[in-house]
Amino acid sequence: ASLLTAIEMAPRDPILGITEAFNADKNPNKVNLGVGVYYDDNGKVPLLECVRKAESQLMEKATPRTYLPIEGLAAYDKAVQELVFGADSAVVQEKRAITVQALGGTGALKLGADFLKRFSPNAQVWISDPSWENHRALFESAGFTVNNYPYYDASTRDVNFDGMLKALGEMPAGSVVVLHACCHNPTGADLTEAQWTDVIKVVTERGLVPFLDMAYQGFGDGIAEDGKVVRRFADAGGALFVSNSFSKSFSLYGERVGALSIVAASAEEASRVLSQLKRVVRTNYSNPPIHGGQVVATVLSTPELRNMWEEELAGMRVRIREMRQALVQKLKDKAPGQDFDFVIKQRGMFSYSGLTKAQVERLRSEFSIYAVDTGRICVAALNSRNIDAVVEAIGKVL
Ligand code: PLP
Repeated sequence: ASLLTAIEMAPRDPILGITEAFNADKNPNKVNLGVGVYYDDNGKVPLLECVRKAESQLMEKATPRTYLPIEGLAAYDKAVQELVFGADSAVVQEKRAITVQALGGTGALKLGADFLKRFSPNAQVWISDPSWENHRALFESAGFTVNNYPYYDASTRDVNFDGMLKALGEMPAGSVVVLHACCHNPTGADLTEAQWTDVIKVVTERGLVPFLDMAYQGFGDGIAEDGKVVRRFADAGGALFVSNSFSKSFSLYGERVGALSIVAASAEEASRVLSQLKRVVRTNYSNPPIHGGQVVATVLSTPELRNMWEEELAGMRVRIREMRQALVQKLKDKAPGQDFDFVIKQRGMFSYSGLTKAQVERLRSEFSIYAVDTGRICVAALNSRNIDAVVEAIGKVL
């Protein structure tokens, strides 16, 4: 027997499991609403035109592939920081924010988690109930105890704001609070501006450590609109952690492009923070890969490509909204008497549809329509060709 002999099989990833079952399904009309990816109206993951153009420019230059600095490509870090906080913001002007390139949003969260564990080892982490399924495991694997704060109320199909605020008000100082900046995954239910005002107030007053996870900037109400909450937190003062991802907004999933930004009280404090964050990177993967970062930096800093990106992103956002509208409209016929208007109010790629586990199972077994057991559907996987079949099926299982 070796040390490997007694190792047990790890549980399967529930969402990847859906895709495996979907792939094995022989029904030509099958639909996968279980994914966390944006598909275009043809059911394909798009290659954005701005990305294609940036890539052909980069090809022309054919630069050697030396190591990047530990913190990533300087042009990328700068462009991302300006995107996230605003070039004219106080934190950028005063050099109080530091930004390091990371391996997607997940990599950014992990860097932040490892950093926090080094400098605040006894803090506990709080995530929304429910949250992105990797938040808990990720912070636990960094060594933290992870708790839930109330977030979604299935009876109102909206945020349980009183419950959330009460929980925040009872957390010990120094607690790390993970907040979805926009387009909450999995529910699609976001806070209003007024609710954010209350959250920022409690977080600041109690000395909590906000960790904003922004994986869907531009999928809610717009790039600036979705990013506003980050700027509001930055203006409130206090340490702030922000992870952001370009997986969805650039359709660059497999390139692993994201970033972690930390806001400090002064430029001098920020430089100490950066020096320590670089140690976290160095001991994990040394330095990030080049290609995705170069593509995003090129697009963000070339006016023509940036305009193109903003338009392409707007196209994705609008298409999702249209699918929300169409879903609700069509369900009025197929499921009369049932109110799905909440789906229009939800933001981002996902919807907590209210479908029960049993209904999700029937969708799968009788109609080859795959969703997550919690009732989460990916609205971005709906298109003009599959929506009627989906609505028809939902009408039958309700
Ligand atoms: N955070 C949230 C809330 C997400 O939904 C996701 C991806 O689905 C991520 C982080 C991770 O993003 P990435 O795929 O860039 O690692």
